[in-house]
Amino acid sequence: MDKVEISDEQIVPIDEIAEGLSGLKITFVNVFGLQHQDGSWTLIDTALPFSASRIKSWAEKTFKRPPNAIVLTHGHFDHAGAAKELSEQWDVPVYAHALEFPYLTGLKEYPAPDWKAGGGVMPLMSPTLPRGPIDLGSRLKELPGEGSELSLAEMPGWKLIHTPGHTPGHVSFFRESDRTLLVGDAFCTTKAESFFAANLFQPAELHGPPSYFTSDWGAAKVSVRKLAGLEPVTVAPGHGKPLAGAEVPQALHTLADNFERIATPKDVLEGTQAGETSL
Ligand SMILES: [Zn+2]
Ligand SMILES: [Zn+2]
Repeated sequence: MDKVEISDEQIVPIDEIAEGLSGLKITFVNVFGLQHQDGSWTLIDTALPFSASRIKSWAEKTFKRPPNAIVLTHGHFDHAGAAKELSEQWDVPVYAHALEFPYLTGLKEYPAPDWKAGGGVMPLMSPTLPRGPIDLGSRLKELPGEGSELSLAEMPGWKLIHTPGHTPGHVSFFRESDRTLLVGDAFCTTKAESFFAANLFQPAELHGPPSYFTSDWGAAKVSVRKLAGLEPVTVAPGHGKPLAGAEVPQALHTLADNFERIATPKDVLEGTQAGETSL
């Protein structure tokens, strides 16, 4: 597979979610740009492979310069897909949590997705899913430890929150000054079945992380509880529309308190997790 066309209607800009924060939806996944006070900006996630030129033209229009870094919430193909190409073209580092490194240095592949766990449209896409591990080589840099105020020099004002469960080294980012939260795949604001919907009129709703790829549901629940505890008022997810408003913290607590019922697939709850589904 050397080319996948992405049509224009599958590219949707998401303007001004919070101060300096805008995004781009490419097919079923969002990337975000964080502009800082000095005019520099950081790219959060890179969508699917073959998204590089779309991200680049959006970035040039929106920010008028290359980012200071690319930061990955985790290493799944729909978030790290264009990281290598963009980091080379822009000559910038790619930051990820150390626990994601094996998946980003070509050493390991994530466990095969569990399509039975409510995959929705994703199985239909499986022929186009990349199978080989991603290798970012020497571009890959380790994110600093959790919580420290300026957790990454390139992202002033944003705290790094380790939110494992969906993957071991999944991270989220929180800006305390206006309670804005970037959650990657720690949870979604749309059902997996609706990932491709042009969901302009579909109300956003909270769901757990994308189920077919989540490796540790216990940890995923703890992570959602941790994020709910931050009481965010704006949430920008990897899948689904951004949410903002006074009711967001309560909705997130409801998701955390009812995580098994809302998010955890039944076969996981019953201890009969579907066996290996090989791609
Ligand atoms: Zn993911
Ligand atoms: Zn994802």
